[in-house]
Amino acid sequence: LFITLEGPDGSGKSTQIRRLSELVGRLEIEVQTTREPGGTPISDQIRSMLLNPENHAMTAKTEMLLYAASRAQHVAEVIRPALAAGRVILCDRYIDASLAYQATGLGLSLEEVRHINSIATDGLWPTRTYMIDVPCEIGLERAFASRGKSLDRIEQRDLEYHRRVRDQFLQIAKEEPNRIVIIDGTQPVEAVTEAIWQDLRQHLRR
Ligand code: C5P
Repeated sequence: LFITLEGPDGSGKSTQIRRLSELVGRLEIEVQTTREPGGTPISDQIRSMLLNPENHAMTAKTEMLLYAASRAQHVAEVIRPALAAGRVILCDRYIDASLAYQATGLGLSLEEVRHINSIATDGLWPTRTYMIDVPCEIGLERAFASRGKSLDRIEQRDLEYHRRVRDQFLQIAKEEPNRIVIIDGTQPVEAVTEAIWQDLRQHLRR
């Protein structure tokens, strides 16, 4: 079972993944958590290139292709083997993030980004996606508070960029209601976990 969490920066995905992984584990189901960009040594090297604030010369297409490259490695090295072993995968970000951040955020074609990512992943899509939605102001404030003064290259972009990204996340969720569940990320941490868990537990094998 392949599950992804998506949402704007500071939506609390990593906290939720930790909590959900514990809940799944309690049912004695094998669970593996992972994240993008990263999740393998090669993908982690790509991640540091992407997030390094010194790389301000990086073009939109380079950025989009590096995310797809990182994802290709992550799918081949981590996600497919884990799925083949019958584990539940909880993954922090996936293709939806590229449609929001790289396509809409940077002004690239949604169709092209989708196509390149279907090449990168051999068409692997998650079974279920939880989109944790928070207004950009709240998300960026949280990211700022939790990471001190150092925001990464992408978090440093202006509020307009982050608004486009959030709107696109909501748009994608509207277009794919059978896969994507929108969760209100302004609720307390426990309530967010509970909202996701109510849905997720129905997809777990007993
Ligand atoms: O989710 P996480 O905070 O680890 O993501 C790291 C950074 O990468 C964030 O600034 C996020 O906005 C950015 N990102 C992106 N495009 C993606 C995935 C993540 O710009 N496809």
